[in-house]
Amino acid sequence: MAVLVDITKCIGCESCSVACKLYNKLDFKKEPRNVKDGIIDLDDNNWTVIQQRVNKNDDIRFVKKQCMHCKEPACASACFSKAIQKDENTGAVVYYPDLCVGCRYCLVACPFEIAKYQWDEQFPQVAKCQMCDKRVEHGEAPACVSACPTGALTSGNRDELLAKAHKIISSDSRYINHIYGENEVGGGEWLYISDTPFEELGFKTVSDVPVTSYTKSYLSKVPVLASAWALFLAGLAYYNHRCDQNKKSDNDGKE
Ligand code: SF4
Ligand code: SF4
Ligand code: SF4
Repeated sequence: MAVLVDITKCIGCESCSVACKLYNKLDFKKEPRNVKDGIIDLDDNNWTVIQQRVNKNDDIRFVKKQCMHCKEPACASACFSKAIQKDENTGAVVYYPDLCVGCRYCLVACPFEIAKYQWDEQFPQVAKCQMCDKRVEHGEAPACVSACPTGALTSGNRDELLAKAHKIISSDSRYINHIYGENEVGGGEWLYISDTPFEELGFKTVSDVPVTSYTKSYLSKVPVLASAWALFLAGLAYYNHRCDQNKKSDNDGKE
């Protein structure tokens, strides 16, 4: 599963971000914690946001932002405890909280600064778009895609979406000749086409080389340190999960 975002069709209605919150049971009342220059960015409670941008011609464009579901995800490669894994069937890069040791290496590793942390929670987890993997497993489109009223979001087979994107670009002179996500850091499952250069819309300019090529080489040079650190973090996670379970048992006993 991949998703093609056509920025020229987005009207900024935010149906997609509302659908994401509904489907993932995120809090509608919480204030966004990550606002820079008046633009709301992702946080632990906002797995997708619509950012209003103004291009060099003073035209307004709306940009949907969420995890890119990289083909070679740096977040997963940085995670010693396998709490983030690429599902080759759905294409989703999925977070498994029960395996997480809270080291937050994934936050640092992500070249798009997508993964966030639940700093306010007693037992915090990493938070990011899961690509609605359970829906995708059952052949459904992600919730945000289903909610989009303008056709700005299309889900489907990645190769077919890429072919469609190339066809649109070659047949309509408004579009720039760049599909963001086709090759960036090795490519991802979220692809964007636009009539405005991506750097004018706040997209990061990144290399086509997957970040995993660096993390793999670094980890191979520090195997002892990595193993010791992983063991320490696994112990810490076990302790935290036990505390969590004890707290739940105490609460159950009181009810
Ligand atoms: S965009 Fe970041 S969080 Fe998402 S899969 Fe890629 S590296 Fe991981
Ligand atoms: S794919 Fe699912 S989790 Fe990701 S932004 Fe869309 S609705 Fe949210
Ligand atoms: S639902 Fe579609 S048109 Fe509305 S903000 Fe999201 S991507 Fe844009």
